[in-house]
Amino acid sequence: FEWEMLDFVELVVNAAEDIRVLAQDKSIEVTLNVADTPVWVRGDKQRLRQVVFILGDNAVRYSDAGSRIRIDLEADGAEAVLRVNDRGIGIPAHDLELIFDRYYRSTNARRSSDDGTGLGLPVAKAIVTAHGGRISAHSSEGHGTTFAVTLPQLTLNESDTDVGADVDVCQDYARESAA
Ligand code: ATP
Repeated sequence: FEWEMLDFVELVVNAAEDIRVLAQDKSIEVTLNVADTPVWVRGDKQRLRQVVFILGDNAVRYSDAGSRIRIDLEADGAEAVLRVNDRGIGIPAHDLELIFDRYYRSTNARRSSDDGTGLGLPVAKAIVTAHGGRISAHSSEGHGTTFAVTLPQLTLNESDTDVGADVDVCQDYARESAA
């Protein structure tokens, strides 16, 4: 992992562009609601972008053409909360716990002609957990699904204008986590 201090808003806006490209093929509309001020987190930019992409890719994959996807990012107290919501096939309640396991594919998805490997969500979970965050899914079968990713928010001291210092702290943190 390459740790740095990054604006999660900027990252999500950029990742949403990739998801829009996928969604276009199915005429799916992607709406984006993000905080209008930066939401700082410590993390690996590439890996976090991969998480957003996995969730967006699934949302497109498991939705019908012409559907809608909503991506929200808010700062909630000490946490940054990303939600990816779709109006797709949904996930049966008994599968919600299992979808984060490697190679598990819900009965719904196995019925659909589309084939995946069942590795996206376990990878997303591993990345989020390595960032000290959580990932969860809420779903209503036949109606849609929302995935929520919560990451610790980095609160910058107002007097602390030296971003370099924070990056140093971040690298220390990365070394500690790796130890
Ligand atoms: P891939 O590894 O290629 O992404 P996959 O989509 O099958 O394949 P995961 O991303 O791990 O693998 O998802 C696991 C299972 O969770 C899927 O097979 C599907 O059953 C279910 N799932 C994931 N996201 C959604 C969603 N947005 N709507 C409905 N089902 C979903």
